[in-house]
Amino acid sequence: MAISVFDLFKVGIGPSSSHTVGPMRAAQRFAQHLRQTGALREARGLRVDLYGSLAATGRGHGTFTAVLLGLEGYDPETVLPEEVDAALARIERSGCVELCARLADPDPRDAGAEAPEDGAAAPVRIGFGVPDIVLHPLTVLPRHTNGMRFGVVDASGDLLEEQTYFSVGGGFILREGAEESVQDRLESTLAELPYSFTTAVELLEHTRATGLSIAGVMLANERSRRPEPEIRAGLAHIWDVMEACKNSALERTGVLPGGLEVRRRAPEWHRRLTEQDPDRDPRYWQEWINLVALAVNEENATGGRVVTAPTNGAAGIIPAVLFYATHYAPGADEWTPEEKADAIADFLLAAAAVGVLYKEQASISGAEVGCQGEVGSASSMAAAGLAQVLGGTPEQVENAAEIAMEHNLGLTCDPIGGLVQIPCIERNAIAASKAVNAAKMALMGDGSHHVSLDQVIVTMRETGRDMSEKYKETAMGGLAVSGISVGVVEC
Ligand code: SF4
Repeated sequence: MAISVFDLFKVGIGPSSSHTVGPMRAAQRFAQHLRQTGALREARGLRVDLYGSLAATGRGHGTFTAVLLGLEGYDPETVLPEEVDAALARIERSGCVELCARLADPDPRDAGAEAPEDGAAAPVRIGFGVPDIVLHPLTVLPRHTNGMRFGVVDASGDLLEEQTYFSVGGGFILREGAEESVQDRLESTLAELPYSFTTAVELLEHTRATGLSIAGVMLANERSRRPEPEIRAGLAHIWDVMEACKNSALERTGVLPGGLEVRRRAPEWHRRLTEQDPDRDPRYWQEWINLVALAVNEENATGGRVVTAPTNGAAGIIPAVLFYATHYAPGADEWTPEEKADAIADFLLAAAAVGVLYKEQASISGAEVGCQGEVGSASSMAAAGLAQVLGGTPEQVENAAEIAMEHNLGLTCDPIGGLVQIPCIERNAIAASKAVNAAKMALMGDGSHHVSLDQVIVTMRETGRDMSEKYKETAMGGLAVSGISVGVVEC
């Protein structure tokens, strides 16, 4: 699969890439389909069915409201958090969605996308809200546990159109019946890349044959899609959104939404840390990356603007380790703006190269393989990015990624209340520290090691396959069950 750095790092909204961003995108694609086929004109009734993990934990993850927004045509990459609040308040007040009202022009990425016929694009107001969504938490559709089916009926109640989608992690979606054509399309783009790879072995072979770094191989592949200045501007934008996400969290007060009464800690930690460490003493690196991870994940839990990296639940790890790279790498305090931009680009490209390996050989979906696939993959990607910026050889970068995943194997996904808060927020901080340590350990060696990155990725996939469904974002086991009754431990 020819996955771009911009597929792995996408701007979206919280709290979940698989349960918020993916469903919103799927509903938006269905709305586009209705407009393109002309079915929109006849549509008078809606039906939405959610299956498996989306039904089990969708309420806490914002899935139900994301679907409503997608049906109206909102795009997770461009919608602003304040627009979300206003649109949801309107839908709740009126009891209606305005089907396709916010839809942009047809998406050229859709095979066969055509301009709508005259009059077929006018939005249609349909009585529908969260209570009308039909939930099937115990039914898992064959392709993936995050299944959703959309249908519209005409004035007689006859079905006009129906489509089934799957949210497969990191905001990626698949439509039932379209998997083969998507696969064909991706494979044909893979063939067009100068250095195609799906395994770490292939990736390292390219670096040996060309003398390029891992970031360099990824950049060469990106250049086959768009000009380099556009790539660099896009990567700088990703970093800007990560920074803005962290800064937004530092301005907020009170508790996180959702009813668990989880206190926001980042603003208070920031105040204390700024007092304790005004000069950025390297002794405090861990406190700072803890803070960045916490802040990004608190913003994600708020439903704020966030970069999926490679998922929303794990969105704090890469910004935290990138913060480390840009503040504590040797000589970082003397970098010119250009040198800093290059370091950020190298970090994100190397991290993305490793992300490609996880998407190709395993999964980045907590509902499919547990949290090892989300937080573990992000930690592994971050370790690779840091090792790259610290001057690691391709073998050391691969080793860093391998170490980070090796020590995240078996991690279950059991968010309390189905909210991306406990254990997710702290888990990002812990995984960021692991990534820094993994990079440091790899750089102490020569890149040779016993277990390869490919082996550990396959092990993650097999561990996920064997993991009880209770521990894969179903809210049926682990902390999601035992932690719910504990409440707040007062001090
Ligand atoms: S436990 Fe991990 S995989 Fe599950 S929602 Fe939280 S961060 Fe995502």
